[in-house]
Amino acid sequence: MDKIVSLSKRRGFVFPSSEIYGGLGSSYDYGHYGVLLKDNVKARWLEAMVRERDDIVALDSSIILHPDVWRASGHVGGFSDPLVDCRFCKQRFREDHLETEQCGKRPSKKPGETAECDLTEPRQFNLMFQTRVGAMEESGVDVYLRPETAQGIFINFKNVAQIARRRPPFGIAQVGKAFRNEITPGNFIFRTLEFEQMEMEFFVPPAEADEWYRYWVAERLAWHVRYGVRESHLRVRPHDPDELSHYSSATSDIEYLFPMGWSELEGIANRGDYDLTQHTEASGTKLEWVDAGTGERFVPHVIEPALGVNRSMLTFLLDAYDEEVVGERDRTVLRLHPQLAPVKAAVLPLVGKDAAMVEKARGLFDELRRHYSVEYDDNGAIGRRYRRQDEIGTPYGLTIDEQTLEDETVTVRDRDSLAQERLPIGGVRARIGELLAADWRSPKSELST
Ligand code: ATP
Repeated sequence: MDKIVSLSKRRGFVFPSSEIYGGLGSSYDYGHYGVLLKDNVKARWLEAMVRERDDIVALDSSIILHPDVWRASGHVGGFSDPLVDCRFCKQRFREDHLETEQCGKRPSKKPGETAECDLTEPRQFNLMFQTRVGAMEESGVDVYLRPETAQGIFINFKNVAQIARRRPPFGIAQVGKAFRNEITPGNFIFRTLEFEQMEMEFFVPPAEADEWYRYWVAERLAWHVRYGVRESHLRVRPHDPDELSHYSSATSDIEYLFPMGWSELEGIANRGDYDLTQHTEASGTKLEWVDAGTGERFVPHVIEPALGVNRSMLTFLLDAYDEEVVGERDRTVLRLHPQLAPVKAAVLPLVGKDAAMVEKARGLFDELRRHYSVEYDDNGAIGRRYRRQDEIGTPYGLTIDEQTLEDETVTVRDRDSLAQERLPIGGVRARIGELLAADWRSPKSELST
């Protein structure tokens, strides 16, 4: 994890937030490559969820919703973590994390393990951030920043079902910010105060809920693998009955082997008819599906896959990170799936001061940038420029050299195998397109146990 944190800062993926003021715990800012990577993660999710399917539509609901939404959903009363305080070291811990946390005074011990530890009884601590809407303190209304995107989907069920004119099974997908007053610090962008969620609520006839739940667990696992996460580092963990939310008949976590151990990457829950029923009762608006022809009606059950963008990005970064020695030189390389890589290709004139090479390279760069995220770099030794691109995970290096000036060909260097092929300059754009569209498997897969 330390290596990823340091690379992220050095190369401008992720910075600690408010750093010049000493930082703010569990908050991070995303730099240029972080933004591009995050955008690619979201784009691949939306493609898999919406563009490649006939049965899911998109939605973007508000962050601040009517406060009754959170009363009906159960978040006001129940979205809390059990916390214990240590009267001695003044640290606060999640009761369900005591086994994995460090004592505030003696990090080699767990909280409660030393003679001085003096833990309070657990108290419920609501995770929602509260704020106020309205100009006047007296007449304002208390509202919450949403702690998940899902409720915005449920309360729009009727709007979407009507315009989408779809019979269940169908789904609504949303990507957007969520906020939680998390008290467990550390682990970089794994758990942050604000984060983006990618959630999809799939509405199904009640009798089909089990089948669709199993379908979505398999489908979501396949998505992580499709974008290069090693199967050896992924597993599905069904929740024990005592872990399940009271409304859920089944929930599974897709877990990744993070540096701190197996932890939740994505959750898939069978939420039954809980949400639509709760909002129907609280709002008085019937959230059900009615067949206009036959008059048949039912409250659909809901299957929900929910994944954090930054947790997914962290997983891709960790899984892609590699170090190797090439020709007696160390290199650090991010073996990211080409479709996730922030920059697809770097255009590099071999000699940065050669006007003819620079002109050719700029011409190619200008052509490619209309289609792909590409970079131009003529600064410094070519080896250094390659290493810089390796560190940000650029899959293809395009070198313009002496021969280019003679025969209009360029070399394409593959980030992972370091193989080079020579291509006519006019064919580069199409070749990059072909390479990006091809199936891809992490070269680290073969090595992992
Ligand atoms: P955890 O127990 O790890 O905090 P959770 O079970 O509360 O997670 P869910 O409510 O199921 O999480 O949220 C679905 C997904 O949203 C999680 O699997 C994770 O990818 C992401 N997520 C949740 N909380 C955070 C957070 N504070 N920071 C980043 N991602 C988060």
